[in-house]
Amino acid sequence: MHRLTTSNGLNMPALGLGTWPMLGTECTQAVQQALDLGYRHIDTATAYNNEAAVGEALRTSSVPREQIHLTTKVWHDRLAPSALRQSFDDSLRALQTDYVDLFYLHWPTPDMDLGRTLDALAELHQQGKARAIGVANFPLGLLRQAIEQHGAPLSAIQVEYHVLLGQQPLLHYARQHDLVLTAYTPLARGRAAEQAVIVDIARKHGVLPSQVALKWLLDQEAVAAIPKAAGRANQLANLQSANVPLDAEDRRQIAALPKNQRVVNPDFAPDWDA
Ligand code: NAP
Repeated sequence: MHRLTTSNGLNMPALGLGTWPMLGTECTQAVQQALDLGYRHIDTATAYNNEAAVGEALRTSSVPREQIHLTTKVWHDRLAPSALRQSFDDSLRALQTDYVDLFYLHWPTPDMDLGRTLDALAELHQQGKARAIGVANFPLGLLRQAIEQHGAPLSAIQVEYHVLLGQQPLLHYARQHDLVLTAYTPLARGRAAEQAVIVDIARKHGVLPSQVALKWLLDQEAVAAIPKAAGRANQLANLQSANVPLDAEDRRQIAALPKNQRVVNPDFAPDWDA
């Protein structure tokens, strides 16, 4: 699996395992199995209530901690600096580690003090406890503020991105500013693989539709993807999507699919066009 790096400390395999909504033993076993299969990038968050389960998998795995890229996130009710630091320490304890490879703000809020929150994030980065930092679910305007007004040393933006949802302006900006864009919900929770165009392309190459959807993301510069899969077969299929040979005609057809089908849009989501 190719890796994505930034000048601000990110060094991450492009494909990772999403862990929401797995809990407890199911989550521990899924992460252990993924590590056995060759995954080296795990995505969790305090809000998933599974950091301890992920930590248990890391502790019991034969894969050394330093070979694993571990991402977690702070929830939006903990963005004041002292609460953010406390949340980060709680995450480290649950994950049974003394650093994370990437630490995100999970969602922005309208009333957050962006400068102070980003300073608290940057401090964890300076201390080496968060090797890289990022923001999730930031619309372009807010990302620009974070970088251009506050000078935050960000490495990544995590947003929903798949064959049915475009992210071109954000992606363009990320590339210009040496950020990686991590695609969450990269299979559109099964909807991507139901598209006739995707099914036809998969048939042409003798692969699975889900693999076509993932490879479309992984072929793009500075894009990572974190599909969630509990079982061995789907985990393996997703890892092996890296070998799918998409051609220019495939990409043309995928580009023509609707790009406005957002799956994740909770009531506290920001104005995506802000
Ligand atoms: P997703 O990855 O698009 O879809 C997951 C679903 O696809 C599961 O039901 C899974 O089933 C199935 N699946 C996985 N591989 C498959 C395959 N090869 N063939 C057929 N079905 C397959 O959606 P998601 O879980 O929403 O997103 C992935 C991760 O992104 C989450 O786990 C989480 O880590 C992250 N995320 C972040 C945010 C955020 O706000 N930052 C929001 C949402 C998600 P099985 O488990 O049975 O394989």
